[in-house]
Amino acid sequence: MDKIDPARRSANMAKVRGKNTGPELKVRRVAHGMGLRFRLHRKDLPGRPDLVFPRHRLVVFVHGCFWHRHEGCRRATMPATRTDFWQAKFDATVSRDARQIAALEASGWRVLTLWECDLKDDEIAARLREVTA
Ligand SMILES: [Zn+2]
Repeated sequence: MDKIDPARRSANMAKVRGKNTGPELKVRRVAHGMGLRFRLHRKDLPGRPDLVFPRHRLVVFVHGCFWHRHEGCRRATMPATRTDFWQAKFDATVSRDARQIAALEASGWRVLTLWECDLKDDEIAARLREVTA
């Protein structure tokens, strides 16, 4: 019998997976295949971006749709219980993301956000080509 509700399970899994999530590895693999040089999770940058491309002054976030509230995405569901709790949590995440992006852009970084629901290899490559050309 599994008594953990889906949202809680998703939270637990996110915690366990930590930073090396599948979607992020996928983006790394594509970037690597394009011959781009990047670093990971630079702690000195706001939000510890998942990938940092110093030569292109570009940072990339690979966001989970549930936690980061991908707008209009069917994965950005609202848990049926403790709605206020979740709403507050989501609001905090979304405004933190916005603050971090603003801080990065203010220091001259370009910011690309990729969503886990939209990570086809050729799509990732196209987005990266746009910003590193
Ligand atoms: Zn999404």
